[in-house]
Amino acid sequence: MVTLIDMRPRGERPRHPEKAHRPDQPMLPKPPWIRVRSPGSEGFFATRAIVRAHGLATVCEEAGCPNIGECWQQRHATMMIMGEICTRACAFCNVTTGRPLPLDANEPQRVAEAVAALGLQHVVITSVDRDDLDDGGAAHFAAVIETVHATSPETSIEVLIPDFLRKERGLERVAAARPDVLNHNLETVPSLYVRIRPGARYFHSLRLLQQAKEIDPSLFTKSGLMVGLGETRDEILQVMDDLRSADVDFLTIGQFLAPSRKHAEVKRYMPPDEFAELKRIALAKGFLLVSASPMTRSSYHADDDFRRLKAARVAALASRS
Ligand code: SF4
Repeated sequence: MVTLIDMRPRGERPRHPEKAHRPDQPMLPKPPWIRVRSPGSEGFFATRAIVRAHGLATVCEEAGCPNIGECWQQRHATMMIMGEICTRACAFCNVTTGRPLPLDANEPQRVAEAVAALGLQHVVITSVDRDDLDDGGAAHFAAVIETVHATSPETSIEVLIPDFLRKERGLERVAAARPDVLNHNLETVPSLYVRIRPGARYFHSLRLLQQAKEIDPSLFTKSGLMVGLGETRDEILQVMDDLRSADVDFLTIGQFLAPSRKHAEVKRYMPPDEFAELKRIALAKGFLLVSASPMTRSSYHADDDFRRLKAARVAALASRS
């Protein structure tokens, strides 16, 4: 199974204590279109050295992303801030669940230095959920954005934020730091939230995306869905409509891959032609940009997609005038 990559030794600490006693889930045989390039290029090791030297975590490693070989070859690492331990226990996710450590006040500077060392024109920054903090970590997230802006003013910043559920003004604090793209993944259809994303609320996440655009209409908003968890086609199309109602610009759709037998089960591998069809439908519904393929992830090809996103907005505005 491709998503068992875990390059960070953890000694005796279990990654998913809450999942340890769950029954093993069946594993569907992997189809030929799910391909992973093994990480081992010069660029991969150079990226890893910079990440390590700055003491940073990346979602590429923590989530066991199958694209790490390709992305890191191009120095595209997605930073994961606020620690490596998440307060949520989503059934799809490989990030460790538990009680997080206190925030590191030096992290914004280390992220900014790593972005400069990697020479990134576009950086994606995400975080674990920090329900233990009064503001959900919003001020820290904003400090990271502001420090990267100050250190690398030419670098565009995309943030993949938590939902700040029950954290008043968390979104406003992050938006005030002026990221270029604000991403929050719905992850799955509403009927599966209780099983797949139990700590989250579908309509709260949707409203968060809508509010982001209300706060700053110039902000690009983005969201993502995984398929293969048992959702129906009609449910996917309804989520597209919901996202368009929230004025979301960019949709990503990728195949869910189970990190282990203790995680949610892959019910189905969607063939590439169905992804292509979903992309056509989503574009017809009015998204500025859609990335849909088996290996699509939120931050996959994010730099190229940001250029396309800007061009698509310019074209859309021109067509209206
Ligand atoms: S797709 Fe995103 S998370 Fe995966 S390796 Fe690439 S940058 Fe990292």
